[in-house]
Amino acid sequence: MPRDVSTPVGARAVTAVAPAKINLHLGVGDLRPDGFHDLLTVYRAVDLWEEVTVALVEGDDPDDDEVIVSGPGAGQVPTDRSNLAARAVDLLREEAGTDAPLSIRIRKGVPVAGGMAGGSADAAAALVATDRLLGLGMGRAALEERAARLGSDVPFCLLGGTALGTGRGEKLATLLHARAEQHVVVALADGGLSTPVVFAELDRLRAERPAAGRDLPRAGGVESLVEALGGDDPARVAGLLANDLEPAALSLMPALRRTLRAGADAGALHGMVSGSGPTCLFFCTGREQAISVAAELSENGVAREVRITHGPVGGARILDTPHQTAHQNPQQTPEQ
Ligand code: C5P
Repeated sequence: MPRDVSTPVGARAVTAVAPAKINLHLGVGDLRPDGFHDLLTVYRAVDLWEEVTVALVEGDDPDDDEVIVSGPGAGQVPTDRSNLAARAVDLLREEAGTDAPLSIRIRKGVPVAGGMAGGSADAAAALVATDRLLGLGMGRAALEERAARLGSDVPFCLLGGTALGTGRGEKLATLLHARAEQHVVVALADGGLSTPVVFAELDRLRAERPAAGRDLPRAGGVESLVEALGGDDPARVAGLLANDLEPAALSLMPALRRTLRAGADAGALHGMVSGSGPTCLFFCTGREQAISVAAELSENGVAREVRITHGPVGGARILDTPHQTAHQNPQQTPEQ
């Protein structure tokens, strides 16, 4: 039965946050008939946050819908219904049986088109905010199913922590034992890379060199990594990190090689492209080393911007105090 959302079910606006992801292991299999690639990945949520506020708008004209984006890179984010947060809101609004106009405000804290799932985090935050706003009361499983429809990384942005991802990345198994804090320097590049273009480049490179390995069979690598994540030895973990998309990202943006070299020269344990790139990640022994690596990368001018982050952190959640932002309260622990 259609729900009358003009009758307040509680708040008139709900704010939620969701974290960026990095892939500690990203093994890419063959292209599937549905246009996706099978993945074997280890996701980790880090403390860079997207903040999404969904609000009821006065009136009943669906044309009053709005998407407003602020923060770094906001100009590159679509504000029409193709916006991933808007698609999440539209999905749940339809399920609520209403066409009440809704306003969506997105505050970017994750690099745009940077291989860290900023758009997916928007969708995850929008799902939990809209669920609460419209009083749908969906459980985690129902939200995860909607998340998977919206994008491969959206379920993980909902879940957070550290998880093994299979399928196209949407099938998740939480790695509860992987709790040791990890410090990472994030180097943002000039410009972005489109995820489908990077996957297509990998297919092209593999077609050129058929002998180049598919890394799905290298499951042993994942097993060692998963085991190492249960300990507290950043160097051991760093030695087991891998990203099959890196050669494709480097082929499309060769300048990233300089960034990776600069991070190695600065003493980072390991440097690699984040997901489909072009953001580069540098894994460090601890926060102190991360500060020194970040300073050196900034001085060398090899990145548009450098940030320090850490993980694992929890997944998407409602902000109970509207004026407390995720950016002011990054000290989260994984919520399992
Ligand atoms: O799932 P998502 O919408 O984020 O994927 C964006 C694009 O990235 C897909 O259309 C596909 O081209 C590529 N992709 C892929 N294999 C995956 C995930 C994404 O080829 N497992």
